[in-house]
Amino acid sequence: MLIALQRPDATRVAGYRAWQAMGRQITKGAKGIAILCPAPIKGKTEQGDDAVIALRFRTGWVFDQADTTGDDLPALTVHAVEGERYATLLRRLIEIAERGGLRVAFKDRLVWDANGVSYGDGRIELKRGNPAGNLCKTLCHEIAHERMHRAEERRTFTTQQIECQAEAVAYCLCATLDVPTPNTPTYLALYKVSRATLAANLDAIRAGVAAIMGEIAPLIDAEAA
Ligand SMILES: [Zn+2]
Repeated sequence: MLIALQRPDATRVAGYRAWQAMGRQITKGAKGIAILCPAPIKGKTEQGDDAVIALRFRTGWVFDQADTTGDDLPALTVHAVEGERYATLLRRLIEIAERGGLRVAFKDRLVWDANGVSYGDGRIELKRGNPAGNLCKTLCHEIAHERMHRAEERRTFTTQQIECQAEAVAYCLCATLDVPTPNTPTYLALYKVSRATLAANLDAIRAGVAAIMGEIAPLIDAEAA
């Protein structure tokens, strides 16, 4: 929404670090687009547990692709994965995620113009209106972020690492659930994930798949029945 107001012609927007991870640099003097980023404030509950006690918004900056130079980006063809089966699967995946302590909300427009967002504190947002099969993959990707990259740890990873790990885990989960993932190669290419990068992240990917596979086991059993 904020983006549309400030830059009606914006095509693909991303933050400074994300553009760098995609091999592009912000043009000198380029004007960023201000967006509001939720910033959770941590505190203690009456029982003394750590908790998010308030939500503050701070200004973050994103840049349009037109204001960046560098490596060409892969063509942005998005393949739709549609069907009633995926709609049912998506509902069940959301139930499982919420039973596991995550909260899933649908929004018309997400920060970074993404299809899904994980905040690292249990909150996931999905883009309303995307095809159900695509959303199944997106949800698996965001669950992977929530389970593997909590907000307080994210600074210890590079953007490429966390995106490579989350997408690879989502790819494996979707293969198990028989959900096609035609957009995964483009996504990995966007973050310049090579075979070597995948190999370097294999332990983390394996651990993530094992953990989330346990969570969605009832779903896999139901599908197989
Ligand atoms: Zn991601």
